[in-house]
Amino acid sequence: MADTSSFWGPVTSTTEWCEKNYVYSSYIAEFFNTISNVPSIILAVIGLISSLSQRFEKRFSILHISNMILAIGSMLFHATLQNVQQQSDETPMVWEMLLYIYILYSPDWHYRSTMPTFLFLYGAVFAIVHSQFRFVTGFKVHYVILCLICTPRMYKYYIYSEDAAAKRLAKFYVGTLLLGSMWWLCDRLFCKEISRWYFNPQGHALWHVLMGFNSYFANTFLMFCRAQQRGWAPRVVYLLGFFPYVKIQKPKTQ
Ligand SMILES: [Zn+2]
Repeated sequence: MADTSSFWGPVTSTTEWCEKNYVYSSYIAEFFNTISNVPSIILAVIGLISSLSQRFEKRFSILHISNMILAIGSMLFHATLQNVQQQSDETPMVWEMLLYIYILYSPDWHYRSTMPTFLFLYGAVFAIVHSQFRFVTGFKVHYVILCLICTPRMYKYYIYSEDAAAKRLAKFYVGTLLLGSMWWLCDRLFCKEISRWYFNPQGHALWHVLMGFNSYFANTFLMFCRAQQRGWAPRVVYLLGFFPYVKIQKPKTQ
């Protein structure tokens, strides 16, 4: 599919997307699929600043940083379409889900160190195994299972939260996820048709942008729930009147 000369050589990744390769630059295989990760990085930086400046627990800083690593890994993958870079996209996806599992389930976990130790080892073993073997369907199934582990607890947080603005964050989370998945599927299933159009809507790039917002809404919602558990009187406030983040008021003694 390479139109202009390709700096990275032939495609070695197991997956390819509907965007034509090397159209705008010989250094970037899929231009729109690469630059569409920039919003995710900006949103993760905003989340990180909010979490550090208000002294949220470290887990949230790590979560925002892992979102950043994921977006950078995704940029590398789409820019090169090489197998090694595909791992730098996919392995952080799994690490991030493990982190979500920790944040969602650890408040009710009695043995403090077993869960992080187990999840850390799981993440490390996964990275090694994934670097040695090429999973295509297996990777997707495994990832969906991790997502499904998170879903019931996320739902529990949603139904127990009484704050309308926090509930709205959770709704935006679901909305961006559904819309993003729809674009992802369109890009996969109707590529033949789309390629004949005068204009390619770049479904996979739209998925990236929507997932950047999706992660931001998820993280912000979880920060709200955690602050509530800790008694930090969280409120959702809006930067410039529309961009939501969580403001907390820690008691003087903490
Ligand atoms: Zn992608």
